[in-house]
Amino acid sequence: MPTKLTELEGYVLSSSKYGEKDAIISLLTKEWKISIKVPSGYDVKSKNHLSTLIFNKVHIDCMELSSSFLVALQTKTLINYTSTYEDLKKSLAIQVANELLIKFFQDRDREIPYLYYEKFLEGVNEGFDTLTLVLIFTSSVIRYLGYEPETGGCVNCGKKNNIISFSWDEGGYLCSHCAQELMTIKEDNNYLKVLRYIFMVDEMRMKKTQLPEASCLRVLEEERHFLFEQLSTEIKSLDMYLENRKKGNK
Ligand SMILES: [Zn+2]
Repeated sequence: MPTKLTELEGYVLSSSKYGEKDAIISLLTKEWKISIKVPSGYDVKSKNHLSTLIFNKVHIDCMELSSSFLVALQTKTLINYTSTYEDLKKSLAIQVANELLIKFFQDRDREIPYLYYEKFLEGVNEGFDTLTLVLIFTSSVIRYLGYEPETGGCVNCGKKNNIISFSWDEGGYLCSHCAQELMTIKEDNNYLKVLRYIFMVDEMRMKKTQLPEASCLRVLEEERHFLFEQLSTEIKSLDMYLENRKKGNK
């Protein structure tokens, strides 16, 4: 059987037990998301164990069997983020991002927000506002899935001024004229600004500005609803993250 050797570098999104002590991990690389079997990955005494722990950045030498199934030969941990497990707020925030990547992207999809994820992890671990980061990351997922709303001008007529409203159904900003025609209400300025910012900000600047909480929560709720409407997929860890925030664990 023909085999190929490959080297991969990326983040462990999920890990599950396979057989007695092996693990199957889902790895997010610059190129795509891919499943890899890690021999002895579930054996805590094995050198491979650390490379199967979620959030960690790892380097893996793999053997690619003709069935397109990858098996790890050797693993090395590049960044160890496991201390994050002890911080509920941080780990729940990362779980939201991991769930988005696992549920909304297929293995070997080439359009995947890798750089946003990398900066998102950095930001969460540095203690930057997780709500801002979760919102920007969710927005990057919407963009990569091809559903980015129009925030450069009115989605209906293209006009750049007198923007007063936004509609997920219409797909973007609405000017006063079009908003009136569509009977959409005038929106608060913070909300409109947040919408433009989250779809515009690049990954290098996503941890520069903390966004206003109320608008963040509202837009995040709307994005969750939008993704469910489009793809009938729920983001379960978002409930846990938001629930934990409500308990005052900001
Ligand atoms: Zn218009």
